[in-house]
Amino acid sequence: MAASLVFRLHDGAPELVREVLLERGWEEYDGEEQEEEDWNLYWRVSAFRHSEYLKLLPWQRLNHHPKSVGITRKDYLARNLRRMRATFGSSLYNFSPMAFILPNDYTRFIAEYTKQRLTRGLSGYWICKPVDLSRGRGIFIFCDIKDLIYDSPVIVQRYISNPLLISGYKFDLRIYVCVKSFHPLTVYMHQEGLVRFATEKYNLSTLDNLYAHLTNTSINKCGPFYTTNKERVGQGCKWTMSKFRYFLHSQDVNELLLWQKIKNIVTLTILTIAPSVPSSPNCVELFGFDILIDSTYKPWLLEVNYSPALTLDCQADVAVKKGLISDLIDLMNYRAIDRLRGRAYQRPKSSKQPCRNAHQASQVSVPVLSKFRELKSQGRSGSQSSQTQTLPLLKALWQHQASNISQSQSRQKALVSSCQRYLPPVDLSRIHAARGRIINTNTTTKTCTSQALNPILGSHSRITRAKVSRERHPSLASYLTDNRALNLSDVTNHDDTVTEREPSEEGDSAKPDISQEGLGSLRSKPAAGPWKLPNIHRLPLEGTRASHRVALPPLRVGDFILTFPFNEATLEASQHKLDVKLAVQELHKLTSQLASGPSRLDKNKLRRQEEEVKTDEGVRTCDSDEGFESLFWGPKEPPLLSQCLPHN
Ligand code: ADP
Repeated sequence: MAASLVFRLHDGAPELVREVLLERGWEEYDGEEQEEEDWNLYWRVSAFRHSEYLKLLPWQRLNHHPKSVGITRKDYLARNLRRMRATFGSSLYNFSPMAFILPNDYTRFIAEYTKQRLTRGLSGYWICKPVDLSRGRGIFIFCDIKDLIYDSPVIVQRYISNPLLISGYKFDLRIYVCVKSFHPLTVYMHQEGLVRFATEKYNLSTLDNLYAHLTNTSINKCGPFYTTNKERVGQGCKWTMSKFRYFLHSQDVNELLLWQKIKNIVTLTILTIAPSVPSSPNCVELFGFDILIDSTYKPWLLEVNYSPALTLDCQADVAVKKGLISDLIDLMNYRAIDRLRGRAYQRPKSSKQPCRNAHQASQVSVPVLSKFRELKSQGRSGSQSSQTQTLPLLKALWQHQASNISQSQSRQKALVSSCQRYLPPVDLSRIHAARGRIINTNTTTKTCTSQALNPILGSHSRITRAKVSRERHPSLASYLTDNRALNLSDVTNHDDTVTEREPSEEGDSAKPDISQEGLGSLRSKPAAGPWKLPNIHRLPLEGTRASHRVALPPLRVGDFILTFPFNEATLEASQHKLDVKLAVQELHKLTSQLASGPSRLDKNKLRRQEEEVKTDEGVRTCDSDEGFESLFWGPKEPPLLSQCLPHN
């Protein structure tokens, strides 16, 4: 029988993650019984160390990318957005309230404060937040500079004083965003999310009433009106995003444009760090974006949360977060090959040693992990002390590595060819056949979700939902199909083999640019062979254009909707070195089109278009000449982007 997948939770990791994984048949890592590396998913609330990325084995995933703190600390985010505004203009990067990082920007803040006082007679409202705290801790709102008192680094941000209110209550949106990969940039937004309410009516004359001005649950659940049945809002302080959609329907608002603007905020924010995040293919990141909508329906980015809260405080939390984590696991794309870990560790019950006996393993006769280790340590011998013990700065590692590329490449080849001997043979004809079925349309459904091909998802996977969408959009079946079963890229298109890096005497001249190459380039590309290491973000799309093939991520996984790339141009731009300028231009173009489009999504029109699609199979199938079409994040049943755009 195939081994279970194993998850490892660091202290303080959310109980919900444990619950979801156990329900899906995973096993929890036991430090007493198991080897240090005997796991498939390691989940931490805080960041991983660099050495943990370097040590990653092919079947292992982490729930954080390195360096994503560039948008999750309030001061870093403010600085990065300021930089992007200077490069791409304030008309595009105008979604975050003006911010000053104090004490550094104190003079600039005073200048702005004074300017506002002189021109308007009022300084306006400001909010002061400690840069590295969360959950509303240490936040206050002020009008007069004499009230600005701080004893640690803070950001002072323009307070959005005209929020959209529901029955007089302020609220903001918690949007869940998964960056599945930074190289190529692949971003998903979850259709569900939370609306978080303040529990007392909004009133600008009581700035110190945090229950009226802050929407944090941790604050409001301690408030006197938390359990009160509040007009329209109800009890507690949360709605699901679905409920908010009903509210939006009742408003005379260009809803599609609003969703698109939120989507732009997410993409433009991630673009600020994407080029500088090192490539680490076996990682995902779940961000929580906090968006405030003002009374003119303009969305504002308040902050981006690292490890967004996954506690279950109320019914809305249960409805949203459980599905979210389940979809995230689906997005991580575990496959049969990841169970190799189990084979590497098969052993008699009491032994802690990896399997060393050919007959103990069910299909693979020699322990994979011990082989990896052996080769890794061979590579290390004679070099500086082990990198897993002392972590040199990345820059220094690059210096060391540069002169030893060929040496490490040949070691890598040895490693790969050695692994080829020990890993299970891959039946290419079966893969080709499976792939052919993925690209075709209606007949795909059964074959591609078959448990035989993909035993990992299990009965708790919400991927089955894709079937519903396939029924609604039959011609999209090839996109909506969960083509994470065996596919060609799993075996021929990976470049994530871990390579040991050697110290070098050479200077900077041969140093690769880490911002472009990232940690991924520390993994040299092995020669083509029958087996390569898995890479969770690459999925194949054949025939988008006859002339080229670019891997297209699935458009939808559970309630996660692919939001970047969103068309052929951005798909191209996300490859190799991310073309940020082009990506920004495409977003701008799309938003302008939506702004000039219809104010509501005409359901009848949509239905007619769906009918057209059904009768005109060639138009929107995956292998059409038109290229790929993404789904529109926002509406409950997301239509195709093209269906929301005005037709010329
Ligand atoms: P924290 O990390 O402590 O939650 P946030 O930046 O999310 O900090 O701010 C907490 C709450 O304060 C938000 O949920 C929102 O209700 C309110 N808030 C923050 N910034 C602003 C702003 N610029 N304008 C209006 N309200 C804000």
